[in-house]
Amino acid sequence: MDVDVANQMRGAVCPHCGEGVLHQANYPRKPKGCPREMLDDYRFRWSFCCSQCRRRCTPASVRFLGRRVYVALAVVLLPQRRKVLSRAAIEFCDQLDVPARTIARWRQWWLQRFPFTTLWQAQCARFMPPVQTTELPTSLIERFTDTADVAMMRLLRFLSPLSVPT
Ligand SMILES: [Zn+2]
Repeated sequence: MDVDVANQMRGAVCPHCGEGVLHQANYPRKPKGCPREMLDDYRFRWSFCCSQCRRRCTPASVRFLGRRVYVALAVVLLPQRRKVLSRAAIEFCDQLDVPARTIARWRQWWLQRFPFTTLWQAQCARFMPPVQTTELPTSLIERFTDTADVAMMRLLRFLSPLSVPT
């Protein structure tokens, strides 16, 4: 999805000045919480720079959630209650080797900050019955029903507006 969005933005007219053209100017990343075999896909955050005004355009991402050094998948998957995860997911989580205090910090973000984001304020009404915000992020992923990987993909796409400053 990140590649699709970047392809749409490349060569487009700059939304800031309306005159320049967007050229690729990616941010290098050294992500944490990323399986070794996937690292090559996470070395850059796609970003663009205007040929005229030089201002930046950074598209939404399903790989990176804001400025966090950890990949978005880890921020979503690791704070979930373990009993809802499959054995494969638990093995995957353990392999990422994220410190418990970091996971605790993410859980706090989910419970205390996420419900107040513009994204959630705008979208929460579409979930019926309402999502239990005291059970985030588990209560949210449960609403994206599909096979585990498709459900996670749809959730990451839902969250991707959080990857850019508002
Ligand atoms: Zn411009």
